[in-house]
Amino acid sequence: MNETETLSRKADFPGLVTADGDPWHYLDTAATAQKPRAVIDAMARALGEDYATVHRGVYGRSANMTLGFEAARKRVARFIGAASENEVVFVRGATEGINLVAQSWGAANLKEGDRIVLSQLEHHSNIVPWQLIAERTGAAIDVCPLTENGLIDLDALEAMLTERHKIVALAHVSNVLGSILGAQRAARAAHSVGAKLLLDGCQSAPRMRLDMDELDCDFFVFSGHKLYGPTGIGVLWAREKLLDAMPPWQGGGAMIEQVAFEQSTYAPPPQRFEAGTPMICEAIALHAAIDYVEKVAGPGGMEGLFAHESALAAKTRAALQSVNSVRLLGPEKSAGIVSFVMEGVHPHDLGTILDEENVAIRAGHHCAQPLMAHLGVPATARASFGLYSDESDIDALLRGIERTQKIFA
Ligand code: PMP
Repeated sequence: MNETETLSRKADFPGLVTADGDPWHYLDTAATAQKPRAVIDAMARALGEDYATVHRGVYGRSANMTLGFEAARKRVARFIGAASENEVVFVRGATEGINLVAQSWGAANLKEGDRIVLSQLEHHSNIVPWQLIAERTGAAIDVCPLTENGLIDLDALEAMLTERHKIVALAHVSNVLGSILGAQRAARAAHSVGAKLLLDGCQSAPRMRLDMDELDCDFFVFSGHKLYGPTGIGVLWAREKLLDAMPPWQGGGAMIEQVAFEQSTYAPPPQRFEAGTPMICEAIALHAAIDYVEKVAGPGGMEGLFAHESALAAKTRAALQSVNSVRLLGPEKSAGIVSFVMEGVHPHDLGTILDEENVAIRAGHHCAQPLMAHLGVPATARASFGLYSDESDIDALLRGIERTQKIFA
């Protein structure tokens, strides 16, 4: 993929220019991705001329909306290599997906003495839901350490797992360090003691080819807004048999079979977990996002996008290595995410100076305070890439860092 290609790709994203029409060097795609025109248009159509509710209407518009909504579920299933669309539960985002698993599967399967494994680098949304269910059930949490270069330490995971461990919940790709989990090995380790594996796929879904069978996990969650789709929609994937054994977590319309005051019965999955009017337009726009991403990826598929972004990350690391005041964090080989700290400059100050140069990075704890504690820093600066990123973004970042150095010298 060359720079001309990404330049033309940038033109698909109205968000990638400033109010003055200058290029905006958006390096915060790990937080949320900019939206291509195709997604914005799909959302506008769904909210406009196509709009109606799903599943209930007998009129044509509603029937069409239902077809569109369910087509989105099928599209997600195909994108992640799921066996059936019945394995795809629409949720509000990854956070809700993890809360669903913790509260439904967790409440039914965890008890006093059971243990949950998380890693040191997890996002708060893959920590707090487990703390809440641990409190309710009497289960306890163990923390899997990291290797020196910031990968989840699978030797340590294998050594710590016992029959008391019921679930292992890990980030597929770290949102701070870009480190990539050896998911299959983690799955083998979890399954060897009869535990389930949940993968937080927030950062992998927009960057990697996914195949649920190959990954061999039990639960997979991601957010649509990081995959160039809208906010307010995400996915929980699990095999039908596992979903079918899980109790509902929220009650309401659409998730029932029969309701009587004496007792109600529930619909099979995925509807059992989708109480209320769903995110109709968001699902349809997510469909458009996946179509766009796969079109851009071309015959090389998601592997091509991964290679493009991780090459940009490697270039950024190589360039930052020669800046004396910069300390890089995380592994050399990563997805398109680079975290660093600058000696004597708070990441927030760096972020503010870069903003003046039309460069947007993330500065803070990235919702990973336990990882910050482990790294011994209160915050990091993070540059993260998307399919529209190119070397002009890295150049702008480096110019801004140089200027920051001069200001703080
Ligand atoms: N996990 C990871 C690794 C993330 O990067 C994020 C978003 N920063 C989340 C979970 C939470 O995603 P959301 O806020 O979209 O639910």
